[in-house]
Amino acid sequence: MTAQLIAAAARLAAAGIEDPVREARILLGATPEKFAEAIARREKHEPIAYILGRREFWSLDFEVSPAVLIPRPDSETLVETALKLFKDTPPHTILDLGTGSGCLLIALLSEWKHAAGTGLDISQAALTVAQRNAERLGVASRAQFQHGDFEAFTGRRFDLVISNPPYIASSVIAGLDPDVREYEPHLALNGGADGLHPLRRIAANLHAVLAPGAPAIIEIGHDQGASASQTLQNHGLNVHQIVKDLGGNDRVILVKLPQ
Ligand code: GLN
Repeated sequence: MTAQLIAAAARLAAAGIEDPVREARILLGATPEKFAEAIARREKHEPIAYILGRREFWSLDFEVSPAVLIPRPDSETLVETALKLFKDTPPHTILDLGTGSGCLLIALLSEWKHAAGTGLDISQAALTVAQRNAERLGVASRAQFQHGDFEAFTGRRFDLVISNPPYIASSVIAGLDPDVREYEPHLALNGGADGLHPLRRIAANLHAVLAPGAPAIIEIGHDQGASASQTLQNHGLNVHQIVKDLGGNDRVILVKLPQ
């Protein structure tokens, strides 16, 4: 290791970064000319994805900014669940509620070449990032991004609805890692008093946007399998499946309207 790397790793270690040598290497490799600045930012716990403006998800290279949640490997569980469910006949139309960077919608559009999708978000800044990702990843002709709330869609029905809504209970936010708490958009994390507030609004809206027999596949928190099921059932939806992530935690719930 060079003296430059050793010094940088020591600074990150002193700042409480868990894997300082690996991170120093990544930052040096990605931004050799701006290495000092990158280390100073990481020392303050800014996530590497924001420093680099990039994060890989579903083997695709996504642009990210502080306006969007950083794509998580756990969310690939949602993509896998959708691909498995539609393995014989892919859906034609997809609605993504709270699209953020667009990672879920764009990953699915990259797999299903004949599908088209709409990504909805309350954040205009997030929509700009999602639009750029759709262009960079070659699905822009099949992706449309629209500004609006979960209720913004009525009168048009989709073959598949997906969402990774905010689902962290407000009281838990203060105890999150500084990397998340200080840098990621609370708009994308904060799910209200019990973490299920956005899910309730989505559940109410699903009656207006799901085509007959169509599923909604929604990401949930690691301990929300039972409470999310109850919430969705209370809104007249049938729970078909709860899928665990690679860590063995509840991560995705699949619902349909009663036939
Ligand atoms: N999985 C994210 C986290 O643990 C939360 C994402 C969300 O609220 N949708 O930080």
